[in-house]
Amino acid sequence: MLSVLRKIVQEVSTAPDLASVLALIVSRIQRAMDTQVCSVFLLDEVQDRYVLMATQGLNPEAVGQVSLASTEGIVGVVAQRAEPINLEDASIHPAFHYLQITGEERFHAFLGVPIIHHRKVLGVLVVQQHEKRRFDESEEAFLVTLSAQLAGIIAHAGLSGSVAKFDDKSGGSLQDRRFDGVAGSPGIAIGQVVVASLPADLDTVPDKAAKDIAREIEHFQQALEAVRVDIRSVASVLSQRLSSDERALFDVYLRMLDDNALAAEIIARINEGNWAQGALREVISEHVREFSAMEDSYLRERATDIKDLGRRILSYLQEESESEPVEYPDKAILLADELTPAMLGMVPEDKLVGLISVSGSGNSHAAILARSMGIPTIMGVVDIPYRRLEGREVVLDGYTGRVYVNPSDKLKYAFLQILNEVQAVTDELEGLRDLSAITPDGYRIPLWVNTGLAADVSRALERGAEGIGLYRTEIPFMIRDCFPSEQEQIESYRAQLEAFAPRPVTMRTLDIGGDKALPYFPISEENPFLGWRGIRVTLDHPEIFMVQVRAMLRASEGLDNLRIMLPMVTSVNEVEEAVRQIDRALAELWEEGFAVKRPPIGVMIEVPAAVYQVRRFARMVDFISVGSNDLTQYLLAVDRNNPRVADLYAPYHPAVLKALDFIVQETHKERKQVSICGEMAADPGGALLLMAMGYDVLSVNANNLPRIKFAVRGVSMFRARQLLTKVRVMDDAEEIHQLLRQALKSFGLSQLTRPSMPEDE
Ligand code: PEP
Ligand code: MG
Repeated sequence: MLSVLRKIVQEVSTAPDLASVLALIVSRIQRAMDTQVCSVFLLDEVQDRYVLMATQGLNPEAVGQVSLASTEGIVGVVAQRAEPINLEDASIHPAFHYLQITGEERFHAFLGVPIIHHRKVLGVLVVQQHEKRRFDESEEAFLVTLSAQLAGIIAHAGLSGSVAKFDDKSGGSLQDRRFDGVAGSPGIAIGQVVVASLPADLDTVPDKAAKDIAREIEHFQQALEAVRVDIRSVASVLSQRLSSDERALFDVYLRMLDDNALAAEIIARINEGNWAQGALREVISEHVREFSAMEDSYLRERATDIKDLGRRILSYLQEESESEPVEYPDKAILLADELTPAMLGMVPEDKLVGLISVSGSGNSHAAILARSMGIPTIMGVVDIPYRRLEGREVVLDGYTGRVYVNPSDKLKYAFLQILNEVQAVTDELEGLRDLSAITPDGYRIPLWVNTGLAADVSRALERGAEGIGLYRTEIPFMIRDCFPSEQEQIESYRAQLEAFAPRPVTMRTLDIGGDKALPYFPISEENPFLGWRGIRVTLDHPEIFMVQVRAMLRASEGLDNLRIMLPMVTSVNEVEEAVRQIDRALAELWEEGFAVKRPPIGVMIEVPAAVYQVRRFARMVDFISVGSNDLTQYLLAVDRNNPRVADLYAPYHPAVLKALDFIVQETHKERKQVSICGEMAADPGGALLLMAMGYDVLSVNANNLPRIKFAVRGVSMFRARQLLTKVRVMDDAEEIHQLLRQALKSFGLSQLTRPSMPEDE
């Protein structure tokens, strides 16, 4: 059963559009369950009716013609109860509603299961048989399992299909197509989509109109010839060592590349208007789908060969297009399957107005960096058909995480109004630059910044930052192709230390792993956030750690404003070992004649184990800093990078707040400084709570710094403590969030809450 299930899901998942998805589903289920009928009904939300969308066994002319009100028929009951109904004879069920022209009167046995995606019933899958009998338990289990797996594919195909219709100029209702994701970085952007594809990854290649068909064909033929040459040369090098059967495989490859085989199909697609890379993706994925569905295991394996050939041709095509200058639209919105920190530099900064990522979540590092650059961003828009959006106009709402494709003038106007309001608030906050963060009752809290990108430093200075609380040193490591040398590191660290001197600069030692990969030091793990990350990697590689620490220390010579911070610490022995290595680096430098001062050393509290040892750590080092982004994910067991559980990622969860409270109290018992550098400090409500808890420093992204200063200057410590007292006895994260929003309004700080959006009403 498992292999049948897998095969159906695999085949359906590669179908190009909703109609083919549904046609495949009904035909494969009917065959696999050996029933006379399989049909699928999908909800038409506008009409609130379940429409027969595909059938195998009923009258095909009824497809698209018959429908049931959402409360009508047994289909309606399945949908309303959101559970399967298995009947020996459907015609005697009180809810039975005969659908004319379907010819279903001949069938008695009925099994209907709901198709549910993200808690929403999308439709109902039905199988029927002539005889009067109940479908047995294994049949019911099979259909339920299949429906659960197919729901996401159906939802995705439905949304993709709606985009294809955007080209229909007459269809006013096709405008403003909305896709929901997770808010990544606040703000509004209106612009044109630029799809970022990954090198040699066919799946991420977008469709694009070919500018010059003849040139596209020429590029394709050159790429094809280059691949043929590669294959022939590999074949000749290996010819002595291969059997005749194995040698024949190379001939198969070359035959596939014949002018009248794959190549002809791809050229035909280019002639229809797609660019070479898009045409290649279309044809290769169709063939892969066909081969993967074959019964014969030898033929099934050929899918891998075709994929491999596709990748090889793509590499040559990409090489060719890299040499051509890219023209970006003036207001570019970069859309990627998986937005990475390295991609943020792809589009020139003056043209980049927004970012969209199909995967990832609001606390992925790409989103954190986007916030520090002030670029509106949406993450985890899992259903967006990104390959088909190149060049399309979109409105991006980074407050709610919504994208509108093909926006109407009315919608654009509404968002432009909001854009203007937001700009007015930003202008108002600019005047705060030289004022300190001091509450009306005289409590002063230093506001520092988090940096990582080169531009962060100047932005931070412009906004009046009093120090750097977190320099994510791994970010510059990520946009290179090998580890930087000690000298290179010294230069970049010195630039930050000098720009901020005499203000403190907290440099975190390399925190790679999790969602931060180095292209030249790949870490491939099942569960990277619980794997080899941060201090675990650097303690295993003292050569990397020592070079970095030496570079930090040498860069600080004469400035003496360096602080070193250790990420992802879990145990006392990790702190001991890291401190020992830092001291060894210092001793070496002193021996070499450098006049370097021992910097303050700090530990980040990011994992629950560290929370309970914080007092012990505080005794061993000079300061503590809380990484609430990771602490939230580890306390709540919610992957910060996974859009599916983004709703559960709640920094205001009572458990997180209790941990934060505890950390301050324990650290202060040792009279050590405790700061926070997670994103929670960059939220005005969060900043007030943290100030009331007693955090000594808040480190936030440069972009949000003025907002936090405005909040601190607008609320007395007395009122912030009252707010904290209320929050401490609350049980629900969402209610706490609401209370904070209300509180900001009642403190007269409504500019700091998110503006109300057109769809809020
Ligand atoms: C954190 O985890 O809160 C933190 C500041 O570190 P990062 O976001 O880089 O993991
Ligand atoms: Mg962290």
